[in-house]
Amino acid sequence: MDILDAPYKTGYIGVKKAKSCIFCDIFASKKPKVDLGILYKDTELMILMNKYPYSPGHILIVPSCHLDNLEDLESRLWLKMSKALKQASALLKDVLNAEGINIGMNISKAGGAGIEEHIHCHILPRWQGDTNFITSIANTRVYRSDFDEIYKKLLRQSSKYFKLE
Ligand SMILES: [Zn+2]
Repeated sequence: MDILDAPYKTGYIGVKKAKSCIFCDIFASKKPKVDLGILYKDTELMILMNKYPYSPGHILIVPSCHLDNLEDLESRLWLKMSKALKQASALLKDVLNAEGINIGMNISKAGGAGIEEHIHCHILPRWQGDTNFITSIANTRVYRSDFDEIYKKLLRQSSKYFKLE
């Protein structure tokens, strides 16, 4: 009992609880979806632009539940995420003329997750000749001005592609 009552422990728990999660913050945000780079959002899932893209048109699919592992994700939600991936794939091919698609999840720090506390799926368009990954990353700095352009392009068409209700 002494250990449970130790002030340092209480402080630690307090700090942990106070730590916010970017995805949960976006889910809770009342800001217009254009300010947040959102393409689609309902109570269970959102689809948004990655602010730090590997390539232009890099999209994230995020479940609303704050989970750091896939095992605890409800199967029904996992199915909804995979549906969203299929629809995002069609969107990227049709609107950005993507010639290929990469899909992936980085889970936990060791898995390379940027936001490890809240699982999410990456989907990004690829084109012949863009295979140099470093170039893709470097290009994102130059692409900054194109980011909004690409987002608007995708957003205009997104309601036609995302049928998830
Ligand atoms: Zn979260």
